[in-house]
Amino acid sequence: MKLNIGWLYPDLMNTYGDRGNIIALSYRTKKMGLEPIINKISINESPDLISKMDILFMGGAQDTQQEIVNKDLKIKGGPLKNAINDGIPGLYVCGAYQFLGKYYKTADGTMIKGIGIFDIFTESPPVNTSRCIGNIIIESKLFPKIKFVGFENHGGRTYLTDKNLAFAQVIKGYGNNGQDGTEGYLFKNSVGTYLHGPILPKNPELTDFLIQKAVERKYGKDVKLKTIDNKWEKRAREFVINKL
Ligand code: GLN
Repeated sequence: MKLNIGWLYPDLMNTYGDRGNIIALSYRTKKMGLEPIINKISINESPDLISKMDILFMGGAQDTQQEIVNKDLKIKGGPLKNAINDGIPGLYVCGAYQFLGKYYKTADGTMIKGIGIFDIFTESPPVNTSRCIGNIIIESKLFPKIKFVGFENHGGRTYLTDKNLAFAQVIKGYGNNGQDGTEGYLFKNSVGTYLHGPILPKNPELTDFLIQKAVERKYGKDVKLKTIDNKWEKRAREFVINKL
């Protein structure tokens, strides 16, 4: 059984170890007895590839790269929106997460229009206002009682029309905007989040959620996947939490 993993804009949207998410998806997919195929989808690739993917991932970026990708999303934004609506599982980190909302206003006031699949918008405070930087701990409604860890570094503050649609609650750190205690957004099988770090190797439950949803969509609910012992991942996470 094969799983097609679509890595959106790996050359432009990739900061603070985001590529570790692809490594984790690939590693755990193999451990579960499946064959991962990594497909890089950047400016030169056809938008038709997006709907053929079983899992999608896009990382974060600086504002300059986001402005470049924004132009290409005029072509790929439609197919990406359809893919998310069709329930293709996906992870969208920081700059990528901002793209899924209505707009992202950069620190110098440039307006970057989003694809509008998430009911959110993002605004940066003026230049010289402090960024949201540091290690973060969150608790997601998808995994009650498990604390996730990551690292965030963003100028943009994201606001949700409906806070109940947040992916998680902040325990320590800033999250969406440093004010309302929400972190990220969850829509169908797609997760938007500010957590770099990277998020998936540190929090294997989320990696497995994406893989499981992808397998269910493609091969049905009866497929039995091999379970993976997460002892070391859990110990690493506990160690980090105790230090914060
Ligand atoms: N450029 C965006 C911001 O500063 C996203 C940063 C990122 O992806 N790390 O808000």
